[in-house]
This record gives sequence, C-alpha cells and structure tokens, in this order.
Amino acid sequence: MAFDNQIAEALRALEAAGLRRHPRQIQGAQGPELEIDGRRVVCLCSNNYLGLASHPAIVQAAVQAAQEEGVGSGASRLITGTMDAHAQAEAAFSEFVGAAEAVLFSTGYAANLGAIQALVGDGDAVFSDALNHASLIDGCRLSRARTYVYRHGDPGHLEELLQAHRPQARRALIATDSLFSMDGVTAPVQELERLARNFDAGLLVDEAHALGVLGPMGRGVCAEQGVAPDLIVGTLGKSFGTAGAFVAGSGALVDFIRNRARSYVYSTAPSPVLVRAALAALPLVRDADDRRTQLLLHAARLGAALRELGFDVPDIRSQILPVFVGDNDRTMRLSHELFERGVFVQGIRPPTVPVGTARLRLTPMATHRTEHIDRAIGAFAASAPKREEAGT
Ligand SMILES: *Cc1c(COP(=O)(O)O)cnc(C)c1O
Repeated sequence: MAFDNQIAEALRALEAAGLRRHPRQIQGAQGPELEIDGRRVVCLCSNNYLGLASHPAIVQAAVQAAQEEGVGSGASRLITGTMDAHAQAEAAFSEFVGAAEAVLFSTGYAANLGAIQALVGDGDAVFSDALNHASLIDGCRLSRARTYVYRHGDPGHLEELLQAHRPQARRALIATDSLFSMDGVTAPVQELERLARNFDAGLLVDEAHALGVLGPMGRGVCAEQGVAPDLIVGTLGKSFGTAGAFVAGSGALVDFIRNRARSYVYSTAPSPVLVRAALAALPLVRDADDRRTQLLLHAARLGAALRELGFDVPDIRSQILPVFVGDNDRTMRLSHELFERGVFVQGIRPPTVPVGTARLRLTPMATHRTEHIDRAIGAFAASAPKREEAGT
C-alpha cells in the first residue's frame, strides 16, 4: 500500500504539471475519420500516412497468413527458427532500401534498441542528434557506449564532437532520424555521411517517418539524397499500415545484430500474420506516388492556411506539421477545443519534446479528402481568437 501511495502521489504531480496522459478510445478501424464515443471526427494525428492500415489487400494477406501459417511464431528465431515469411520479408525490405540484408524486429523501438546496443559498447562512442527519437536515445543508454549529443541538425557541432572524442573511442556510430518525428524537418544526411567517412564512424539513419512518403517509390530520405548509410532502420507501423520494423545493412552488420541484439535474441519473433501483411503492403507503398502527392498537397494546404490564421507552423515540405504553442496546458486546451469541433489532433508535451516547446502535431493522410482538410482549417479558425485571448 505504501508503494501504491507513493506512485499515486507521483501521478498527481504529473497531473499538476499538465503531463498526465489520457488516450482516447476509438471504435472500429484506423482511417481518415474515426469514431470516438459515437462521434465521427477527422483524424489528424495518425502515422497511417498512406491510409493502408485497413487496406483490403493487406487485410486479406493477414487473414490468409493466419489460416496457412498460424498466428504465433512460437519463440525467438534463435530458438524455433526463421519462418518463410520472415526470410521473404527480409529479402524484400533489404532490396527496397538498397541494402544487402535486413533483419526484422517486432517494433521500431526494439529495432533501435537492439541495433545500437549490439554494434557499440564499452569503449565506443555514439553521436546522437539532440532531437532523436526516444528509441535511439534508449539504444544509446543500453549500449553503455559514451554518448555525445550534437545540436539538432548541426553537422558543424557534430564535427567538433567527433574531433574531440572520436580518437579515444574504439568504434564510433552516428545515429539520426531522417525525418524528425515531432518537427517534420529532414536530417542533413549528406553531411552526416561525409563526416562518418572522414572520422571512420558508422552511420545509422532511422527512416521511420520518411519511408513510404519521401524519396523515389517512398524509399526514404537517404534514397532521395543519394546517401547510403551503414544502417537504415525502417518501421512498418506507419506508412506500411501494419507493425514491426527492419534494420538493413551489409551482411556482416546484419549478422552481428542477429547474434547480439538483445531485443532480437530474447524476444518472440514477429507474428507471420503481421509479416505477411507488411509484405503485401510493400508493392502498394512502392506504387503509391499518387497517395504521396496527395498527402504532401494536404499538408501544404493545411500549413499555409494555419500560418494565414496566425498559428506558428513552419513552412516545410513534410507530412508532419508542428503547431507550436509552448505551454503544456494551453496545448492540451487547444487540442480539446479542436476535438469538440470534430477534429482529432494530439498535443505533444515534454518529455516527448523539449520543455517549453509543447505543440500540436498534425499529420494528414493521403486518404483524407480536401473537404476533411478544410473542416480542420475551419476548426482552427474558430479556435484562433480564443488562443489570442489566452495571451499569445
Ligand atoms: C515510431 C518511431 C519508432 C518506433 O517504431 P515502432 O514500430 O512504433 O516501435 C522509431 N523511430 C522513430 C523515428 C519513430 O518515429
């Protein structure tokens, strides 16, 4: 009981700081509109960017896989072996991103945790962008390598840190998001590649939000900019509409990860149902140029209209639009107001983003109709004056 009381007190502290989370419960499938407590709302907070999460061909592949290969994978692949679905998906995804090999993980979180922990350790150094996703940060922590955080998107600062700390390290790894998940900006991957080469460091690029959206055939930021990092992390729960992740790279790197990544070795292999679903999503993603164009058009329309209304939204080419508010409570109030007006957007607070930079994070989908986007703009317009009164 005493322990429970201590935690209840910590929970009250979260509430008081405006940091307690209360996720909404939705009915039915993910899509451009959602049903929540009997209401239809426009969903502007999903990473289901291409609208594939409930695509009939993907659903059918999952159903068929369940019937033919079952639902469970039995155990870790080091115990019960690799199923055909795993091997076929690894071949397909490595080919997609132009790497020699790939290894599947159950989630992107597990992929980053495992890859970094496997490849660097005591005596090594990791160089990490200040706005990297939590899974990359946690991978650095788990690895026990020395971690040096460079200023967001700043190759000059990275170079300084490499000059100061690379010589003492046995191995070095640079890790970055390609399209930053909460800001929608792109990493300077060409400069990072040059620095990695000059300082004899590996480069890991997490393409979670770019895969399926940016680059030729949706192959990501690296493909778009002609960069071949040592490792590409791709996730399947976003544009691919399913779940899981892969780490792609050379044969040696991938084989080493299979041997040493704890989140791979000590975790049950991904379900063949999800792996077959992701495999069915791949050709759809590849051929989704129309959806990609539509998605970025929606984002551009939304961004321009919100700037016009006086909201603090950067002018970037991205399907991720931050609407900077700053204060935690004000962010959540705006989110609730918009929900009351039929638009579901999520407030993002610390520790997900730096203190004082709470924001709404808007993510349209390719399957929204222009009318959905305009409804969202209308809801923002109705909320804008209140926002001024609140002391902007
Ligand atoms: C979502 C995300 C992950 C985690 O992927 P999951 O499959 O959701 O666990 C990793 N990296 C980045 C940059 C992400 O945005």
